[in-house]
Amino acid sequence: MELEKLYAKALNLSLLSKDEGIFLYNEAPVEELMFIANHLRQHHNPGTSVGWIIDRNVNITNICFSQCTFCNFCRKKGSPDAYITTTEDYIRKIDELYALGGDQLLLQGGMNPDLGIEFYTDLFRKLKKFYPTLRLHALGPPEIVYLAKKEKTSYEDILSQLIAAGLDSLPGAGAEILSDRVRKIVSPSKATSGEWLEVMRVAHRLLLPTSATMMYGHIETVGERIEHLIKIRDLQQEKKEGQYGFITFIPWPFQDEGTLLREKHSTRSTYSGPDYIRLIAISRIILNNIRHIQASILTVGKEIGMLSLHAGADDLGSIMIEENVVSAAGADNRFSAEELQSVIKEAGFSPVKRNQKYEAIK
Ligand code: SF4
Repeated sequence: MELEKLYAKALNLSLLSKDEGIFLYNEAPVEELMFIANHLRQHHNPGTSVGWIIDRNVNITNICFSQCTFCNFCRKKGSPDAYITTTEDYIRKIDELYALGGDQLLLQGGMNPDLGIEFYTDLFRKLKKFYPTLRLHALGPPEIVYLAKKEKTSYEDILSQLIAAGLDSLPGAGAEILSDRVRKIVSPSKATSGEWLEVMRVAHRLLLPTSATMMYGHIETVGERIEHLIKIRDLQQEKKEGQYGFITFIPWPFQDEGTLLREKHSTRSTYSGPDYIRLIAISRIILNNIRHIQASILTVGKEIGMLSLHAGADDLGSIMIEENVVSAAGADNRFSAEELQSVIKEAGFSPVKRNQKYEAIK
């Protein structure tokens, strides 16, 4: 394989194979990958705009049967610090979100065996009744798989009920690495890669905007990273006119502090800044049918976040008023709205506040 031929293929928006992706990942100089990725970024998002959003992460409950080995956040039922968020807490947290100028709530798990579909539809209805302009970016494929099994029904039925109750978009949570070899070790009780993809296929059909994610830097190989990207790209290829499909792709590195994966399996995070830049660029190159690539400044920090914007990323995500799963494992980069905009400007770009569909807002 020749790098020059692969660069030309990427710039032509041709689909790269797994072997071609691995070759680029392993062999291409990072500055050349950045150059190609930047061209593609300009193709999808011409100009200097970089998106950001104010949103708030609220965990519905920290009780989760899944017990993923990278997660310090989950608790078993009956633990002294197990909780289900109360209505009063939602109201206080959403009031704070609105006071800061945000209107998107990222509602995440765990998968509490006591909570069925009615709990979630009641919750969404209640929140929308109190806050009609609130946007709910909630749950993720593992929760949909779990609810469908619990209620003995289809993904379509669960998603339709959630949409009717107020779900606005489905985060790509729980993708980790879409390889069942990897999932058996990092998240053995969660949705399989096939189930994750099938939920997203149904969500796209139901016209839900979705995102795709990757948590990498643990036990996966480069080949499995590329395979993950290709599975997402191939599903996006099925997207029909009028469907949102995957609006964005967001990769972040495994944070190992205090996790079972580190304590029991001696797995340390393989994260490095240069490798993150390489991954961002490769993501932009392989995912040539997804418009936005978001760098996870919350986990990689300011310097690498800024550099990502020169490697194909066009979004720095959220100031994330509250985040528990990643921060429980060691990520503690926090930014105010002003700081996030300054970071974007310092990197040479223009900050654009956006909504959950990545549309610019005033
Ligand atoms: S990562 Fe999510 S699904 Fe896995 S144990 Fe933690 S809360 Fe549960």
